Amino acid sequence: MSILVVGSVAFDSVETPFGKADEVLGGSATYFSTSASYFTDVKLVAVVGEDFPDEHIAGLKEKGIDLAGLKKVPGKTFRWKGRYDYDLNQAHTLETHLNVFSAFNPEVPESYKDSPFVFLANIDPELQMKVLEQVRKPKLIACDTMNFWIEGKPDALRKLLKNVDLFVINEGEAREFSGHASLVKAAKAILSCGPKTLIIKRGEYGALMFNGGEMFSAPAYPLEEIFDPTGAGDTFAGGLMGYLANTGDLSEENIRKAIIFGSVMASFNVEAFSLNRLKTLTLPEIKARYSEFKRLTHFEDI
Ligand code: AMP
Repeated sequence: MSILVVGSVAFDSVETPFGKADEVLGGSATYFSTSASYFTDVKLVAVVGEDFPDEHIAGLKEKGIDLAGLKKVPGKTFRWKGRYDYDLNQAHTLETHLNVFSAFNPEVPESYKDSPFVFLANIDPELQMKVLEQVRKPKLIACDTMNFWIEGKPDALRKLLKNVDLFVINEGEAREFSGHASLVKAAKAILSCGPKTLIIKRGEYGALMFNGGEMFSAPAYPLEEIFDPTGAGDTFAGGLMGYLANTGDLSEENIRKAIIFGSVMASFNVEAFSLNRLKTLTLPEIKARYSEFKRLTHFEDI
């Protein structure tokens, strides 16, 4: 089953303790789509400026991503500049330039409107809502956000959450949004806003799921070297949603497997800057790391 995704397509400038990248391909929808493309068909809704090179468009096409909903308009592409210190879980935003996104009115192509899976990747919650208003009865609606929107558009975000089944958010942002330091309390408060399932991303500590009174905890894969955590959250969501859409199974057990596929994809992404590692992955590599996750977390019953 296919996934419709709306989110940012961007130029990122990133500095980590291990190096630096200037104006490289990034954006929440870019990471999400590339990751999900290993599992299922992806249909992208976004906007770029005239400065967006054909080579990046060709790269997305190569992954089989449907670009009928990607508009190129006069103006500059979205830009994000961030820095990570040794705590790679914490991105410090230095600059956000919405550019062509500030006047974007998303139009969902007719061929996208029956997509059974919808992912509202991190972007203005008003744009996420506009996309949702144009689709017909999806099987699953999921969304992500970040502090920029929690602080900038809290009302629009709360309105959106009433229509969302699965919410994926960072640990720090879950605390900020709910006002609770305890993640269990934060989860209860967030779930009371609408979503049935909440997944809290905890960077190098993995992910926690809250679903109908059940909790599930997945570790992150312990890596010897992490170059750039940018896009890890979106790549995680791409693996998660990609696997759910591929199987069409929304049972608790299958969501647990999907979380591990999300963690697998994120673990590859942080091994290089931009989408450099993600672009060249193979299915055997993905499956092998899934098995390593299984061994990593396996223990016998008492
Ligand atoms: P993450 O998966 O959380 O590391 O997301 C990183 C990506 O989010 C980067 O590639 C940025 O281009 C993108 N991004 C950063 N800030 C925003 C924002 N305010 N709205 C949409 N996308 C953003």
